Amino acid sequence: MVVRRDSAVGEQSSGDGKKTGKPVKKVARAKKAAPAKKAAEVAPSAAEAATKTATKAATKAAAKAVAKAPAQESRTALVRRARRINRELAEVYPYAHPELDFENPFQLVVATVLSAQTTDLRVNQTTPALFGKYPTPEDLAAANPEEVEDILRPCGFFRAKTKSVIGLSKALAEDFGGEVPGRLEDLVKLPGVGRKTAFVVLGNAFGRPGITVDTHFQRLVRRWRWTDQTDPDKIEAAVGALFPKSEWTDLSHHVIWHGRRICHARKPACGACPIAPLCPAYGEGETDPEKARKLLKYEKGGFPGQRLKPPQAYLDAGGKPAPPLGAA
Ligand code: SF4
Repeated sequence: MVVRRDSAVGEQSSGDGKKTGKPVKKVARAKKAAPAKKAAEVAPSAAEAATKTATKAATKAAAKAVAKAPAQESRTALVRRARRINRELAEVYPYAHPELDFENPFQLVVATVLSAQTTDLRVNQTTPALFGKYPTPEDLAAANPEEVEDILRPCGFFRAKTKSVIGLSKALAEDFGGEVPGRLEDLVKLPGVGRKTAFVVLGNAFGRPGITVDTHFQRLVRRWRWTDQTDPDKIEAAVGALFPKSEWTDLSHHVIWHGRRICHARKPACGACPIAPLCPAYGEGETDPEKARKLLKYEKGGFPGQRLKPPQAYLDAGGKPAPPLGAA
Protein backbone atom coordinates (compact mmCIF):
# COMPACT_ATOMS: atom_id res chain seq x y z
CA MET A 1 0.00 0.00 0.00
CA VAL A 2 1.25 3.44 -0.84
CA VAL A 3 1.27 5.87 2.01
CA ARG A 4 -0.02 8.85 0.09
CA ARG A 5 -2.82 6.93 -1.55
CA ASP A 6 -3.80 5.23 1.66
CA SER A 7 -4.10 8.52 3.43
CA ALA A 8 -6.61 9.58 0.81
CA VAL A 9 -8.46 6.36 1.27
CA GLY A 10 -8.44 6.83 5.00
CA GLU A 11 -10.42 9.98 4.54
CA GLN A 12 -12.81 8.16 2.29
CA SER A 13 -13.39 5.28 4.60
CA SER A 14 -15.30 7.13 7.22
CA GLY A 15 -18.60 6.91 5.37
CA ASP A 16 -20.73 3.88 4.78
CA GLY A 17 -21.97 2.75 1.39
CA LYS A 18 -25.58 3.79 1.95
CA LYS A 19 -24.94 7.34 2.88
CA THR A 20 -22.41 8.16 0.22
CA GLY A 21 -24.38 6.75 -2.70
CA LYS A 22 -26.45 8.24 -5.48
CA PRO A 23 -27.02 11.84 -4.46
CA VAL A 24 -23.31 12.56 -4.15
CA LYS A 25 -22.61 11.10 -7.52
CA LYS A 26 -25.25 13.07 -9.32
CA VAL A 27 -23.74 16.24 -7.93
CA ALA A 28 -20.27 15.21 -9.06
CA ARG A 29 -21.44 14.54 -12.60
CA ALA A 30 -23.48 17.67 -12.90
CA LYS A 31 -20.56 19.74 -11.72
CA LYS A 32 -18.35 18.54 -14.56
CA ALA A 33 -20.85 18.41 -17.40
CA ALA A 34 -22.81 21.61 -16.90
CA PRO A 35 -20.09 24.19 -17.68
CA ALA A 36 -19.21 22.40 -20.91
CA LYS A 37 -22.71 22.59 -22.32
CA LYS A 38 -23.11 26.12 -21.13
CA ALA A 39 -19.92 27.35 -22.74
CA ALA A 40 -20.62 25.60 -26.00
CA GLU A 41 -24.21 26.70 -26.26
CA VAL A 42 -24.16 30.14 -24.73
CA ALA A 43 -20.88 31.65 -25.80
CA PRO A 44 -20.02 30.51 -29.31
CA SER A 45 -18.02 33.61 -30.12
CA ALA A 46 -15.92 33.24 -26.99
CA ALA A 47 -15.41 29.59 -27.84
CA GLU A 48 -14.23 30.51 -31.32
CA ALA A 49 -11.81 33.05 -29.93
CA ALA A 50 -10.49 30.53 -27.45
CA THR A 51 -10.12 28.01 -30.25
CA LYS A 52 -8.00 30.36 -32.31
CA THR A 53 -5.89 31.22 -29.30
CA ALA A 54 -5.31 27.58 -28.43
CA THR A 55 -4.50 26.67 -32.03
CA LYS A 56 -1.99 29.51 -32.21
CA ALA A 57 -0.53 28.47 -28.88
CA ALA A 58 -0.10 24.89 -30.07
CA THR A 59 1.63 26.02 -33.26
CA LYS A 60 3.85 28.43 -31.37
CA ALA A 61 4.67 25.82 -28.77
CA ALA A 62 5.61 23.31 -31.42
CA ALA A 63 7.74 25.87 -33.22
CA LYS A 64 9.85 26.65 -30.18
CA ALA A 65 9.75 23.18 -28.74
CA VAL A 66 12.87 21.97 -27.05
CA ALA A 67 13.88 18.36 -26.99
CA LYS A 68 16.16 18.83 -24.01
CA ALA A 69 16.28 15.84 -21.72
CA PRO A 70 16.11 17.06 -18.12
CA ALA A 71 18.87 14.70 -17.07
CA GLN A 72 19.99 16.87 -14.17
CA GLU A 73 16.54 18.11 -13.29
CA SER A 74 16.18 18.82 -9.60
CA ARG A 75 13.21 17.66 -7.60
CA THR A 76 11.94 21.23 -7.38
CA ALA A 77 12.28 21.73 -11.13
CA LEU A 78 10.46 18.46 -11.77
CA VAL A 79 7.57 19.48 -9.52
CA ARG A 80 7.33 22.86 -11.25
CA ARG A 81 7.45 21.34 -14.72
CA ALA A 82 4.88 18.68 -13.85
CA ARG A 83 2.47 21.22 -12.42
CA ARG A 84 2.97 23.51 -15.38
CA ILE A 85 2.14 20.67 -17.76
CA ASN A 86 -1.04 20.03 -15.81
CA ARG A 87 -1.97 23.73 -15.93
CA GLU A 88 -1.38 23.84 -19.69
CA LEU A 89 -3.47 20.71 -20.20
CA ALA A 90 -6.23 22.18 -18.06
CA GLU A 91 -6.42 25.08 -20.53
CA VAL A 92 -6.45 22.79 -23.54
CA TYR A 93 -9.01 20.41 -22.01
CA PRO A 94 -11.10 22.61 -19.73
CA TYR A 95 -13.96 20.15 -19.87
CA ALA A 96 -11.96 16.98 -19.24
CA HIS A 97 -14.16 14.52 -17.42
CA PRO A 98 -14.81 10.80 -17.42
CA GLU A 99 -16.03 10.02 -20.91
CA LEU A 100 -18.33 7.27 -19.76
CA ASP A 101 -21.99 8.17 -19.40
CA PHE A 102 -23.48 7.42 -15.99
CA GLU A 103 -26.19 8.64 -13.67
CA ASN A 104 -25.24 6.95 -10.43
CA PRO A 105 -22.31 5.05 -8.87
CA PHE A 106 -23.73 1.68 -9.95
CA GLN A 107 -23.80 2.74 -13.59
CA LEU A 108 -20.26 4.13 -13.35
CA VAL A 109 -18.72 1.02 -11.84
CA VAL A 110 -20.44 -1.20 -14.43
CA ALA A 111 -19.51 1.10 -17.33
CA THR A 112 -15.89 1.24 -16.16
CA VAL A 113 -15.68 -2.55 -16.04
CA LEU A 114 -17.15 -2.69 -19.55
CA SER A 115 -14.66 -0.15 -20.88
CA ALA A 116 -11.72 -2.57 -20.72
CA GLN A 117 -10.31 -3.20 -24.19
CA THR A 118 -12.88 -1.02 -25.92
CA THR A 119 -13.72 2.65 -26.37
CA ASP A 120 -15.82 4.72 -24.03
CA LEU A 121 -18.00 5.61 -27.01
CA ARG A 122 -18.79 1.94 -27.59
CA VAL A 123 -19.66 1.51 -23.92
CA ASN A 124 -21.87 4.59 -24.02
CA GLN A 125 -23.71 3.13 -26.98
CA THR A 126 -24.28 -0.12 -25.09
CA THR A 127 -25.15 0.87 -21.53
CA PRO A 128 -28.53 2.56 -22.20
CA ALA A 129 -29.98 -0.83 -23.19
CA LEU A 130 -28.31 -2.55 -20.24
CA PHE A 131 -29.43 -0.04 -17.61
CA GLY A 132 -32.84 0.32 -19.25
CA LYS A 133 -33.45 -3.39 -18.68
CA TYR A 134 -31.51 -3.79 -15.43
CA PRO A 135 -31.56 -0.46 -13.57
CA THR A 136 -30.40 -1.73 -10.17
CA PRO A 137 -27.78 -4.16 -8.84
CA GLU A 138 -30.60 -6.46 -7.80
CA ASP A 139 -32.01 -6.49 -11.34
CA LEU A 140 -28.66 -7.25 -12.92
CA ALA A 141 -27.80 -9.84 -10.28
CA ALA A 142 -30.93 -11.78 -11.22
CA ALA A 143 -30.46 -11.42 -14.97
CA ASN A 144 -30.25 -14.26 -17.45
CA PRO A 145 -26.55 -14.28 -18.48
CA GLU A 146 -27.35 -15.05 -22.10
CA GLU A 147 -29.58 -12.01 -22.38
CA VAL A 148 -26.88 -9.82 -20.85
CA GLU A 149 -24.29 -11.29 -23.22
CA ASP A 150 -26.47 -10.28 -26.17
CA ILE A 151 -26.54 -6.70 -24.96
CA LEU A 152 -22.82 -6.56 -24.18
CA ARG A 153 -21.63 -8.28 -27.35
CA PRO A 154 -20.51 -4.98 -29.03
CA CYS A 155 -18.14 -4.27 -26.13
CA GLY A 156 -15.96 -7.31 -26.83
CA PHE A 157 -15.05 -10.00 -24.28
CA PHE A 158 -18.78 -10.03 -23.65
CA ARG A 159 -18.85 -13.37 -21.83
CA ALA A 160 -16.20 -12.36 -19.30
CA LYS A 161 -17.75 -8.90 -18.92
CA THR A 162 -21.19 -10.42 -18.40
CA LYS A 163 -19.77 -12.60 -15.66
CA SER A 164 -18.10 -9.60 -14.03
CA VAL A 165 -21.08 -7.25 -14.05
CA ILE A 166 -23.49 -9.92 -12.84
CA GLY A 167 -20.98 -10.97 -10.19
CA LEU A 168 -20.35 -7.45 -8.96
CA SER A 169 -24.10 -6.78 -8.94
CA LYS A 170 -24.64 -9.86 -6.76
CA ALA A 171 -21.91 -8.68 -4.41
CA LEU A 172 -23.45 -5.20 -4.22
CA ALA A 173 -26.91 -6.64 -3.58
CA GLU A 174 -25.80 -9.20 -1.02
CA ASP A 175 -22.94 -7.46 0.79
CA PHE A 176 -23.58 -3.74 0.44
CA GLY A 177 -27.34 -3.38 0.52
CA GLY A 178 -27.52 -2.61 -3.20
CA GLU A 179 -25.26 0.45 -2.90
CA VAL A 180 -21.77 1.00 -4.30
CA PRO A 181 -19.36 1.31 -1.37
CA GLY A 182 -17.28 4.46 -1.09
CA ARG A 183 -14.12 2.80 0.19
CA LEU A 184 -11.23 1.50 -1.86
CA GLU A 185 -10.86 -1.67 0.18
CA ASP A 186 -14.51 -2.58 -0.45
CA LEU A 187 -14.53 -1.66 -4.12
CA VAL A 188 -11.53 -3.81 -5.03
CA LYS A 189 -13.27 -6.86 -3.59
CA LEU A 190 -15.99 -6.61 -6.24
CA PRO A 191 -15.59 -9.00 -9.19
CA GLY A 192 -13.88 -7.30 -12.12
CA VAL A 193 -12.98 -4.20 -10.09
CA GLY A 194 -9.29 -3.39 -9.71
CA ARG A 195 -7.58 -0.34 -8.31
CA LYS A 196 -7.94 1.62 -11.56
CA THR A 197 -11.70 1.10 -11.68
CA ALA A 198 -11.98 1.78 -7.97
CA PHE A 199 -10.23 5.14 -8.30
CA VAL A 200 -12.42 6.12 -11.25
CA VAL A 201 -15.47 5.46 -9.08
CA LEU A 202 -14.07 7.16 -5.97
CA GLY A 203 -12.93 10.23 -7.90
CA ASN A 204 -15.98 10.70 -10.06
CA ALA A 205 -18.87 9.25 -8.09
CA PHE A 206 -17.78 10.19 -4.59
CA GLY A 207 -15.58 13.22 -5.20
CA ARG A 208 -12.62 11.61 -3.46
CA PRO A 209 -9.18 12.32 -4.91
CA GLY A 210 -7.66 9.50 -6.85
CA ILE A 211 -5.12 8.94 -9.61
CA THR A 212 -6.27 6.70 -12.44
CA VAL A 213 -3.22 4.91 -13.81
CA ASP A 214 -4.46 3.54 -17.10
CA THR A 215 -2.39 2.76 -20.17
CA HIS A 216 -2.37 6.41 -21.35
CA PHE A 217 -1.36 7.69 -17.95
CA GLN A 218 1.51 5.22 -17.69
CA ARG A 219 2.84 6.08 -21.13
CA LEU A 220 2.64 9.85 -20.78
CA VAL A 221 4.14 10.23 -17.32
CA ARG A 222 7.11 8.16 -18.43
CA ARG A 223 7.52 10.29 -21.57
CA TRP A 224 7.45 13.36 -19.39
CA ARG A 225 9.97 11.77 -17.02
CA TRP A 226 7.77 12.31 -14.03
CA THR A 227 8.78 8.81 -13.03
CA ASP A 228 10.56 5.83 -14.54
CA GLN A 229 8.46 3.33 -12.58
CA THR A 230 6.50 0.74 -14.53
CA ASP A 231 4.35 -0.72 -11.78
CA PRO A 232 0.97 1.10 -11.64
CA ASP A 233 0.99 1.34 -7.84
CA LYS A 234 4.47 2.86 -7.86
CA ILE A 235 3.53 5.26 -10.67
CA GLU A 236 0.51 6.31 -8.66
CA ALA A 237 2.66 7.03 -5.61
CA ALA A 238 5.39 8.83 -7.56
CA VAL A 239 3.01 11.08 -9.49
CA GLY A 240 0.80 11.65 -6.47
CA ALA A 241 3.81 13.08 -4.65
CA LEU A 242 4.21 15.77 -7.34
CA PHE A 243 0.73 17.23 -6.91
CA PRO A 244 -1.63 18.30 -4.15
CA LYS A 245 -4.18 15.60 -3.46
CA SER A 246 -6.99 17.93 -4.49
CA GLU A 247 -5.65 17.89 -8.08
CA TRP A 248 -5.35 14.14 -8.52
CA THR A 249 -8.71 13.45 -10.15
CA ASP A 250 -8.57 16.33 -12.65
CA LEU A 251 -4.91 15.57 -13.36
CA SER A 252 -5.93 12.03 -14.31
CA HIS A 253 -8.55 13.34 -16.73
CA HIS A 254 -6.12 15.82 -18.33
CA VAL A 255 -3.40 13.22 -18.86
CA ILE A 256 -5.78 10.59 -20.21
CA TRP A 257 -7.47 13.06 -22.57
CA HIS A 258 -4.06 14.15 -23.89
CA GLY A 259 -3.03 10.54 -24.41
CA ARG A 260 -6.21 9.78 -26.31
CA ARG A 261 -6.12 12.83 -28.53
CA ILE A 262 -2.54 13.95 -29.13
CA CYS A 263 0.18 11.94 -27.39
CA HIS A 264 -0.66 8.57 -28.90
CA ALA A 265 1.23 5.39 -28.19
CA ARG A 266 2.64 4.87 -31.66
CA LYS A 267 2.44 8.25 -33.36
CA PRO A 268 2.39 11.15 -30.93
CA ALA A 269 1.51 14.39 -32.68
CA CYS A 270 4.44 16.40 -31.29
CA GLY A 271 4.17 19.12 -33.94
CA ALA A 272 0.65 19.97 -32.76
CA CYS A 273 1.25 19.49 -29.06
CA PRO A 274 0.68 22.49 -26.80
CA ILE A 275 3.07 21.21 -24.13
CA ALA A 276 5.95 20.42 -26.48
CA PRO A 277 8.32 22.93 -24.81
CA LEU A 278 7.88 21.10 -21.51
CA CYS A 279 8.27 17.58 -22.88
CA PRO A 280 11.58 15.73 -22.91
CA ALA A 281 10.11 13.25 -25.40
CA TYR A 282 9.39 15.91 -28.03
CA GLY A 283 10.43 14.45 -31.36
CA GLU A 284 9.37 10.94 -30.50
CA GLY A 285 6.45 11.56 -32.85
CA GLU A 286 5.73 13.69 -35.92
CA THR A 287 7.11 17.23 -35.51
CA ASP A 288 5.90 18.76 -38.77
CA PRO A 289 2.85 20.83 -37.72
CA GLU A 290 0.76 19.97 -40.78
CA LYS A 291 1.52 16.26 -40.64
CA ALA A 292 1.05 16.24 -36.88
CA ARG A 293 -2.36 17.87 -37.19
CA LYS A 294 -3.53 14.93 -39.27
CA LEU A 295 -2.62 12.59 -36.42
CA LEU A 296 -4.93 14.28 -33.93
CA LYS A 297 -7.82 12.07 -33.10
CA TYR A 298 -10.76 11.58 -30.90
CA GLU A 299 -13.26 8.81 -30.41
CA LYS A 300 -14.06 7.09 -33.69
CA GLY A 301 -17.29 8.49 -35.05
CA GLY A 302 -16.87 11.98 -33.65
CA PHE A 303 -16.41 13.80 -30.42
CA PRO A 304 -17.42 11.79 -27.38
CA GLY A 305 -21.18 11.70 -27.30
CA GLN A 306 -21.30 14.83 -29.47
CA ARG A 307 -22.27 16.69 -26.35
CA LEU A 308 -19.21 18.65 -25.35
CA LYS A 309 -17.33 21.48 -26.88
CA PRO A 310 -14.46 19.87 -28.78
CA PRO A 311 -11.05 20.47 -27.20
CA GLN A 312 -9.45 23.37 -29.01
CA ALA A 313 -6.19 21.64 -29.69
CA TYR A 314 -7.62 19.42 -32.35
CA LEU A 315 -9.48 22.01 -34.32
CA ASP A 316 -7.91 23.28 -37.48
CA ALA A 317 -6.92 26.88 -38.07
CA GLY A 318 -10.44 27.68 -39.21
CA GLY A 319 -11.97 26.26 -36.04
CA LYS A 320 -13.27 23.16 -37.82
CA PRO A 321 -12.78 19.71 -36.31
CA ALA A 322 -9.69 17.92 -37.54
CA PRO A 323 -10.37 14.89 -39.76
CA PRO A 324 -11.60 11.85 -37.86
CA LEU A 325 -9.32 8.96 -37.23
CA GLY A 326 -8.43 7.23 -40.46
CA ALA A 327 -9.73 10.02 -42.70
CA ALA A 328 -6.31 11.60 -43.35
S1 SF4 B 1 2.89 14.61 -28.28
FE1 SF4 B 1 5.15 14.65 -28.32
S2 SF4 B 1 5.66 16.64 -27.37
FE2 SF4 B 1 3.52 16.21 -26.83
S3 SF4 B 1 3.58 15.21 -24.86
FE3 SF4 B 1 3.59 13.58 -26.39
S4 SF4 B 1 5.75 13.12 -26.81
FE4 SF4 B 1 5.65 15.10 -25.73
